[in-house]
Amino acid sequence: MASSKILIANRGEIALRIHRAAHEMGIKTVAVHSTADSDAMHVRLADEAVCIGPPPASESYLNIPNIISAAEISGADAIHPGYGFLSENARFAEIVESHNLIWIGPKPEHIRTMGDKVEAKRTAGALGLPLVPGSAGGVSEFDEARKIAAEIGYPVIVKAASGGGGRGMKVVPSEDKLESLMGQARSEAKAAFGDDTVYIEKYLGNPRHIEFQIFGDGQGNAIHLGERDCSLQRRHQKVLEEAPSPVITPEERERMGGIVSKAMSDMGYRGAGTIEFLWEDGKFYFIEMNTRLQVEHPVTEAITGLDLVREQIRIAGGLPLTLRQEDVEFRGHAIECRINAEDPLTFAPSPGLVRTYHAPGGMHVRVDSGLYSGYRIPPYYDSMIAKLIVWGHTREGALRRLRRALEEFVIEGVKTTIPLHQALLDDPDFQNGDYTIKWLEEWLARQQ
Ligand code: ADP
Repeated sequence: MASSKILIANRGEIALRIHRAAHEMGIKTVAVHSTADSDAMHVRLADEAVCIGPPPASESYLNIPNIISAAEISGADAIHPGYGFLSENARFAEIVESHNLIWIGPKPEHIRTMGDKVEAKRTAGALGLPLVPGSAGGVSEFDEARKIAAEIGYPVIVKAASGGGGRGMKVVPSEDKLESLMGQARSEAKAAFGDDTVYIEKYLGNPRHIEFQIFGDGQGNAIHLGERDCSLQRRHQKVLEEAPSPVITPEERERMGGIVSKAMSDMGYRGAGTIEFLWEDGKFYFIEMNTRLQVEHPVTEAITGLDLVREQIRIAGGLPLTLRQEDVEFRGHAIECRINAEDPLTFAPSPGLVRTYHAPGGMHVRVDSGLYSGYRIPPYYDSMIAKLIVWGHTREGALRRLRRALEEFVIEGVKTTIPLHQALLDDPDFQNGDYTIKWLEEWLARQQ
C-alpha cells in the first residue's frame, strides 16, 4: 500500500528534507510543530500543519497521543519520524502500525533489539559482524567488571546499554578507577535513559569511526551503499562527515559491505539503517546500529545518486529496493559540514534572530536547512541549523568546492560554526585525510 499523505513527526532541516522527497513523489505532507516552531520553514511548506504542544519536546515532538491524533485529524496514512525524537522508539512504531498507519521505518522488533546496545552486540556477533572485545552482556557487579576488564586489558570503556549521543560513557585507564567510574556511568545512564545497565569494552586507542549505510526490503533482500567516515567528532558528536572514507579501498568496501548486507538480509531488516564500526589497524569493530535515517545521509546520496528518503518511503509502502547491489555505483567524493548555532570557539549555544541568511549555491553544492532571513532560532532544540554538502570528482576537488561554498555562506545575527569548518579546511592533516576520532579535540585544544 503506497502512501498518499505523510505526517512528518520532526522539525528543522530533516522535516524539510522529508517534505521535499514526499512532494517529488506526489505525496502530500502534514507538518506537526510545537508553539515555538509555528514559523518554521517545513510548517510553511507542508500541505497542512497541526500544532501538537508547547516548546518542550517532551510535550510536543515526543508526545505520542498528540502526534497520532494529528495523523487522524489530517487523514495522513503514514508517519516518517526523521532522526532523533521518536525515530528509534519501538513502542511508537508499534502504536503507529496499530492505528493502521504506515510506519516509515524498520520493523519494531529490530528497533527494540538494536536500541539495547548489549542486545545489539549479541545480535551483531551472531550475524557474523566483528565486535570490540568486551563483556558478553550487561555487567552489574563490580567484581564481575573487574574480572572482565582484567581479561580484556586496560584501558576499557564502560558504556550504557541504552546509551546514545555519547552519554553514559566512561573511559577507565586502570583498575583503581574502575569502581568510581563505573558508578558514575551507571548514575549518568540512569538519569539520561532510566536504565543503569552498563557493559564493558576494550577502549581502542586511536580508531576511526566508519559506518556503512544499508537498506533492506524486509523480505530478506538487502544492499549496502558504502561507508561514511565520521571520525571528526567533538565529545563523541559528529562535526563533519565524508564519503568515501579516505582510508578504505574499493576491495575493502566490497568485502565489508558484503558482510553487512548479508547480515541485514539474514535478519530480514526493513528500511534504512547504519552499522557503525570503529576501525583501527585495518580492522573493523562493530559498536552499534542505528535503525533510522542519519544526519549525514546526504554524503551517501551524493556519491550514489540515490534519494534515501524516497527509498524509505517506497520500502515502507511495500515496493522493492530500487537498486540491486550490482547496480550501486560509487562516484566521486562528498563532504558534509554540520553548521551549528554556536560560538565557534566555546561552543556555547547561540539561538536568536537570523538577520540575514544567504546560502551558497553553484555546481554540486547542497544546503539542507530550514533557515531564512528573519527566522528566529528557538532555544529549545538541537543547535544544528544547516548542513552543507559538496561533491567533487576527487577529494581534493570536494575540498576546494567546500572552501568556496563556506566563503559564500552568510548567516548573520547568531554565531555559527562556519569559522570552525573554515579553519579545519586549512589544516594539512585534514587535507590529507589523516585523522582519527581523537584528532579534532586535540586540534581544538591547540587552537586555544
Ligand atoms: P552513542 O550511541 O552514545 O553515540 P557509540 O557506541 O556510537 O555511542 O560511540 C560513540 C563514540 O564513542 C564513537 O564514535 C567513538 O568515538 C567512541 N567510542 C565508543 N566505543 C569506543 C571504544 N570501545 N573505544 C574507543 N572509543 C569508543
